Amino acid sequence: MSMVCLAMDRFFSALPDTGSSITPRCTRAEAFSEAVRLDPRSYDDAFSLACELGVHELSLYEIVAVGRWASHESEVLSDRDVLRLERFHKEKNRGDGPRVTALPYLLGPEMFGCFAGRRWIHVDGDGKALPCAYMPLSFGNIKERRLKDIWKDMTAYQWFQGRCSCQMRDRQFREAHRDILEG
Ligand code: SF4
Repeated sequence: MSMVCLAMDRFFSALPDTGSSITPRCTRAEAFSEAVRLDPRSYDDAFSLACELGVHELSLYEIVAVGRWASHESEVLSDRDVLRLERFHKEKNRGDGPRVTALPYLLGPEMFGCFAGRRWIHVDGDGKALPCAYMPLSFGNIKERRLKDIWKDMTAYQWFQGRCSCQMRDRQFREAHRDILEG
């Protein structure tokens, strides 16, 4: 787990004084962290560090086994890990301190569900339209097809019906698209 964002007030105080009359004001500072299979105590460690830094929110994302990480499927979160994150999210948000956003819980089927090809579309630098930035499954290029038509095909795709957890964690989905996901 890595903390990559310092509290903004500390960040601003570390900036060199340029003599500008504009004083940056901090309204919100966020700490991002990516969760892999870890001792759940490390979540508490991350929360303590977030408190110490004075951040407003601690956001927990999950590692997706794709690209150079495609062979790390055994290290992604299990359903049990997501349950732990759910408990952590609820417990911390009942008390004081930074708000906790445990995305793997919020993107679960009981909450919002996976957005890939259902609620958003990602267009990469080449113009390829993907269901999600972490799902290298092109439905066409916006230089060749209308985005509206690509979106229609994408939302009609059999794998994008109904709610599920991160589809990139779904064994059956990965098996059916193995050649694409592993490039
Ligand atoms: S596949 Fe779904 S849950 Fe996973 S990263 Fe993409 S949008 Fe998020």
